[in-house]
Amino acid sequence: MKLQFYLSQDTVASALEMSKRGGHLWIFLASPLLASECRIYVYDLARRLGVPVKGAGLADGIEVFSKHDAIAPGEFGNAIRGPLGIHRGADRRFWFYGADYTLEAQIEYLNRLRRVTEDELRKFIAGKELPQPELSPHVTRSVSVRRRSGNGRSEFRILEHIGSVRKVGRNYVARCPSCAQSGHDRCGDNLAILIEDSRFYHCWAGCTKEMIRAAVGFPIRVPNH
Ligand SMILES: [Zn+2]
Repeated sequence: MKLQFYLSQDTVASALEMSKRGGHLWIFLASPLLASECRIYVYDLARRLGVPVKGAGLADGIEVFSKHDAIAPGEFGNAIRGPLGIHRGADRRFWFYGADYTLEAQIEYLNRLRRVTEDELRKFIAGKELPQPELSPHVTRSVSVRRRSGNGRSEFRILEHIGSVRKVGRNYVARCPSCAQSGHDRCGDNLAILIEDSRFYHCWAGCTKEMIRAAVGFPIRVPNH
């Protein structure tokens, strides 16, 4: 609601949709716009309001969709349930707060909302950029790589311990094993693994490499001297 208020100061209309927990704030566009530019606007607004954004090293906060600035041809970004669609898990529709809870009233309400144009968006984000580096999956060195030769132990390979992955840009994306242990990351997109070197991986929800290694049953060994 804080975001919604400050969006309205920019004359950006937004619609608050109920959800299983909390809500979703939708902004509608006059024409398809670049995800990278929309993300700059929302991240900048959240930063100015002190609203935490999930994934920037934080396990809690708002989630921003689109989740990626860009994806390569033939690849897919995150799926999202469209407004007034039926949630397949909850088997129900989630209404917007701004109108009576009938489809007609809701659609009429959504159609009435002002849409953001490309010109407006460009003005909002002039001179701004996404705060770096925490918004692109910054990868951290996951394990000490070099093993003494001849000890018979092989390197830890994260890809051998996770389920299916999909390619998003330079990364594989998968469900984070540590998040999964606590029933989180059901979208299966918290863990980013650098394709060109899978020793580099990162959980957007903030799980440490120690947590991830423990979750797959390969805890990081403390070297004994
Ligand atoms: Zn995680």
